[in-house]
Amino acid sequence: MKLTALAGGVGGAKLVDGLAALLPPEAFCVIVNTGDDFEHLSLKISPDLDTVCYTLAGMANPETGWGIKNETWQVYKTIAQLGGPDWFRLGDTDLATHIMRTALLCEGEPLSAITQNFCQEWGVSHRVFPMSDHPVRTMVHTNEGKVLGFQEYFVQHACEPVVSRFEFKGADEAKPVDDALRRLNESDLVVFAPSNPWVSIDPILAVPGYRESLRGKPVIAISPLIEGRALKGPAAKMYRELGIRPSASAIAEHYHDLLTGFVFDERDRGELEKIERWRIIPLLTDIFMEDKQDRIRLAREVLSFGQTILSRSH
Ligand code: GDP
Ligand code: CA
Repeated sequence: MKLTALAGGVGGAKLVDGLAALLPPEAFCVIVNTGDDFEHLSLKISPDLDTVCYTLAGMANPETGWGIKNETWQVYKTIAQLGGPDWFRLGDTDLATHIMRTALLCEGEPLSAITQNFCQEWGVSHRVFPMSDHPVRTMVHTNEGKVLGFQEYFVQHACEPVVSRFEFKGADEAKPVDDALRRLNESDLVVFAPSNPWVSIDPILAVPGYRESLRGKPVIAISPLIEGRALKGPAAKMYRELGIRPSASAIAEHYHDLLTGFVFDERDRGELEKIERWRIIPLLTDIFMEDKQDRIRLAREVLSFGQTILSRSH
């Protein structure tokens, strides 16, 4: 079975890590959101891409969920002492990634090729694709009529502003990475990782080509919400502010035109009827991933659910 996952950062990376432990590189790859990318101190930062790569490399910082483990902060502190910005933390080791990526992008190398080379150095054998080599920027529109860059909203304003809508600037002109689209087209099954639908998966789907490739393919999404709450980040808050009750069924509804199957938590069994009404095949299980064992267990369940769905459709 060939599988492609779509993912954002922290939540997505956990399931991707489990899937990568079970499937060989020729059978599994991941397409990652780059709507969060931005420039900081003239450095080109790709937060979700780095989170997925560092997680697969076993380098991720378990406390923060982002950045590198056993990190030091000398450069960041010194920059702040010199009057530089201190709202976006960059570790000393992590900085090497951003400096090299910036230099290579400035020399004209595409982000996908840079990521592939970094992954090789980090010992990551599965392909990790940025959704596009063209810049796409997630902009957060607030109820006060302000438009914030994603990191400005997420980090600088700590997700406090009330959102009214999202815009994926540049998406219309962007193109999928060729190899990513080819791998997606060749996939038997597609998995939407338990990432934020609004700002992690929607930006990927906004790049012309991916959505079309998904039509007619079995797609399984995993809920990032349990009992209406996000395990981390603003997903539930965003639903509320947009006038939708955050719940497993709200996630299923978000994607429902694309979904064949939906994986949600046993604690949300009450949502089952609603989900089945949309002719989505449900899988109720424990979707919380605390450690590596949980990631592998959930990934295994998703794979066998996928097999069942595939055998039904033949
Ligand atoms: P970000 O880009 O770092 O915000 O990461 P993602 O968009 O990939 O993931 C954020 C989502 O992951 C949040 O909505 C969380 O609720 C969800 N999440 C985090 N940990 C887990 C977990 O263990 N299980 C599930 N099902 N979702 C999780
Ligand atoms: Ca993100």
